[in-house]
Amino acid sequence: MMIPAQASCTDIFESGLLPAEQALSQILSALPHIDDYEIIPIEKAKARTLAQTVIASFNVPRLNNAAVDGYGLNANDLPSMGTASLNVIGSAYAGTPYSKKVSARQCVRIMTGAIIPEGVDTVIMQEHVELKNNTVFIDDRHKAGQNIRLAGEDLRQGEAILQTGKFLTPADIGLIASLGIAEIKVKRKLKIAIASTGNEVISIGDTPSKSSLYDSNRYSLYAALDRPDIEIINMGILQDNPKTLLNSFNQASQSADIIISSGGVSVGDADHTKTALKQSGQVDFWKIAIKPGRPLAFGHINNSVFFGLPGNPVAVMVSFYQFVLPAIEAMLAIKEKAIAPTLQVESIENIRKKKGRTEIVRGILQQDGKGHWTVKSTGKQGSGILRSMSLANAFIILEHDRGTVKIGESVTVQPFSGLI
Ligand code: AMP
Ligand code: MG
Repeated sequence: MMIPAQASCTDIFESGLLPAEQALSQILSALPHIDDYEIIPIEKAKARTLAQTVIASFNVPRLNNAAVDGYGLNANDLPSMGTASLNVIGSAYAGTPYSKKVSARQCVRIMTGAIIPEGVDTVIMQEHVELKNNTVFIDDRHKAGQNIRLAGEDLRQGEAILQTGKFLTPADIGLIASLGIAEIKVKRKLKIAIASTGNEVISIGDTPSKSSLYDSNRYSLYAALDRPDIEIINMGILQDNPKTLLNSFNQASQSADIIISSGGVSVGDADHTKTALKQSGQVDFWKIAIKPGRPLAFGHINNSVFFGLPGNPVAVMVSFYQFVLPAIEAMLAIKEKAIAPTLQVESIENIRKKKGRTEIVRGILQQDGKGHWTVKSTGKQGSGILRSMSLANAFIILEHDRGTVKIGESVTVQPFSGLI
């Protein structure tokens, strides 16, 4: 079956559209960077951007220690053949070291994490020896130096273990904790104001009329922006009135780094965002060669970056992930991108595609019975059909110059994992 990439609109090729890559690079080159930082407890630092280098001020582990429960001895006492018998002279525990020297023909009982006593350079697992009274019997299968964790093998003293710009993960927080550091510098939160526009758009809780629809855009945007490094300013729904729009955007610009609105940026009579912002001269209204998400306004309102996203719910989300999220990551100087076109996967469906624009198809990435990864579309792809996003776990990116995809061809896929 041929699933059209877009079913609900007529496909008329139009020249003079801005290629999607060009739109993104224009956006990225026009952004300010956030240099301000705050100092926060490491427990609160997950998914924040590090604004300092973290240097190991000591070795982790501090000293050589046992990797298993067993017996510590000197490798000179390992038999080259047959069995050696060694006298157990004491015990070493994690936190309670054995502080005397271990001499030839002697060994100590040693537990995982215990500091290696003087004279010991090898640990034999307890399961691999025989113990009778106070003597262990060791056969000839063991190697010198085994089962010892070396000082500094995780973090070496003086080493820069995390760099500015690292988007902090649970493992990073653990690393910082292992150095005994309680607080770190992170970039301050990005303040993002969101608004929906449209006289037909109503809030949850309002009484619907025949011609109204509930605002979904502000909710999907809120959810996409609800992360530890962002503070959301919710501007609500703005009526299609140039004065209201301009006043609200001006007001938001006093505190927001970014203002995101949806609706009112196409060519309809009621698209007042254009009228409101044309006067400011700082916002461009683009027609991008992308589907969905063709109309996009981008620029500045006072000191805020402004994104005017399309009104259709899928177009909002596609524009957000393709243009706004990379901008957020750039402003916070996050090195690890949440989304990147990384996989080439076999399409198990024909997908109709027009050359001359990027098409972002919502896809289902899955493994077949043999473990082979494939992708197909979520079905109807109209830009108002939000279920096409809800059913998807990946974007299928059909590049600008690409034509129709035939079953069995490889397509570029951006998995959603990590986005949430
Ligand atoms: P517009 O670009 O303002 O003409 O909007 C395009 C389409 O998206 C129209 O059908 C709108 O009703 C719809 N739309 C606009 N804003 C929203 C919203 N916040 N939530 C859901 N649908 C919307
Ligand atoms: Mg509208």
